Amino acid sequence: RTIGADLDATVAAHADRDALVEMASGRRWTYAQLRHDVDELARGFLAMGVQPGDRVGIWAPSCAEWTLTQYATAKIGAVLVTVNPAYRTHELQYVLAQAGASVLVCTQSFKGSDYPQMVAEVRDELPELREVVVIGTPSWDALVAGARSVDADELARVGDGLAPDDPINIQYTSGTTGFPKGATLSHRNILGNGWFVGEGCRYTHEDRICIPVPFYHCFGMVMGNLAATSHGACMVIPAPAFDPALTLAAVAAERCTSLYGVPTMFIAEWALPDRESYDLSTLRTGIMAGSPCPAELMRQVLDAGISDMTICYGMTETSPVSTQTSPDDPFEAKVGTVGRVGPHLEVKVVDPTTGETVPRGEPGELCTKGYSVMLGYWREPQKSAEAIRDGWMHTGDLAVMDDEGFVRITGRIKDVVIRGGENIYPREIEEFLYTHPDVLDAQVIGVPDERYGEELMAWVRLREGAEPMTAQSLRDFCTGRLAHYKIPRFVHVVDDFPMTVTGKVRKVEMREAAAQILR
Ligand code: ATP
Ligand code: MG
Repeated sequence: RTIGADLDATVAAHADRDALVEMASGRRWTYAQLRHDVDELARGFLAMGVQPGDRVGIWAPSCAEWTLTQYATAKIGAVLVTVNPAYRTHELQYVLAQAGASVLVCTQSFKGSDYPQMVAEVRDELPELREVVVIGTPSWDALVAGARSVDADELARVGDGLAPDDPINIQYTSGTTGFPKGATLSHRNILGNGWFVGEGCRYTHEDRICIPVPFYHCFGMVMGNLAATSHGACMVIPAPAFDPALTLAAVAAERCTSLYGVPTMFIAEWALPDRESYDLSTLRTGIMAGSPCPAELMRQVLDAGISDMTICYGMTETSPVSTQTSPDDPFEAKVGTVGRVGPHLEVKVVDPTTGETVPRGEPGELCTKGYSVMLGYWREPQKSAEAIRDGWMHTGDLAVMDDEGFVRITGRIKDVVIRGGENIYPREIEEFLYTHPDVLDAQVIGVPDERYGEELMAWVRLREGAEPMTAQSLRDFCTGRLAHYKIPRFVHVVDDFPMTVTGKVRKVEMREAAAQILR
């Protein structure tokens, strides 16, 4: 199916059920209303001259219009280019030019910045960009009003001409390890993945999903929006930008059954001093994903009564999810692994140098094959061929698979620290530091060292009211519990880590900063 056909099927079955709630404005849509607005917008894009295959950019924080644009472009086969709202003019210009976008939909302002003004600054360098539509202004109204000149039959005709393997999305990776890459994804890629992830959460039309993760990323628009609409569930947008209190307030007010987040979001929510005052009793399931999910944190979330919470692992290039834990898994697997391979997918763990599959229990690079593997990096045949070999997406992540197929992610190949010839996986040390009662969050990196090649440095965030922490006191905590070479030599206490908007810690930036600190 195409995304448009799938939405129509859901509307046919669940027209009067809630589809979308935007907490910031209090606006809400049933499925019938959502389809009305999506179709009107789709006809507006057709009236504007947008054709199947044309690229339409969207540069806005999570909001209802984002979702409407997502489905309207899918209905007419336009390729939605999702632009990180944190980007500034240089990155915006790069992405729109690289994608060859002819239309841009953007927000008026976000976090005090004037978006149309930023667009104006680079417009001369974007000859292909014909139209800029600003949400909540007359240009948006004009786009919608254009629908009057295109009838429903024409929209249906365009929809009938689309195929599941057509490209429908260019999604940029988080840029955790470098400059973001544009993954080109089809209806089959992302609708299939949204559906199966939703199956993993056992969604029905009764579910109400709180989605605090940004829509421009696959976690929001696929695992959130497409999982919801393919199951007739309701999407709840707690706020344009992540706020732990607003997120829990949205769960309570909308009686959400599912909560999403990257680990740092759950950490912030669980650290709220008044967390107990929010009624979270309706929460049944949810997804923690995007970066290493500490076992201790997952335990706290399950203990809070969200007993079917799942962990997913994936990447933008695989639409994104490859593995997911199941409510039926043994407790230790639910907190300590990223689950098993998803339906209709294959994963394997290979020796990165030989490409041979390693024995179960041995670490290697994780590879994914199946319907979810992207069509390629947009206009980057070279990079695509390096990443996808014989149909296998090489993830750049290190993993171990046990005899029952449970996968543990041990880190990114680029983050492995080699100290005195010893391979050290920072992930393992981070997991351990979490067990320190004063540690709220911990990240470990390698820093250059003359004697050992690399030394370990831990960055820690402390809980409120914790005693000051010295390198020695943390080292004392580790002594006798960790092998001596895994005990961080340097400790740096911080309020926050450098993060991507998708909630991933940018270790590249930490390593740069560490070089300054240790100079
Ligand atoms: P870039 O590719 O631009 O450097 P990125 O890889 O962070 O950025 P995404 O596609 O958003 O961009 O993220 C995918 C990556 O996130 C995976 O390759 C993996 O390293 C990490 N990841 C996702 N889920 C998990 C998880 N459950 N546990 C550990 N790591 C995870
Ligand atoms: Mg990546």
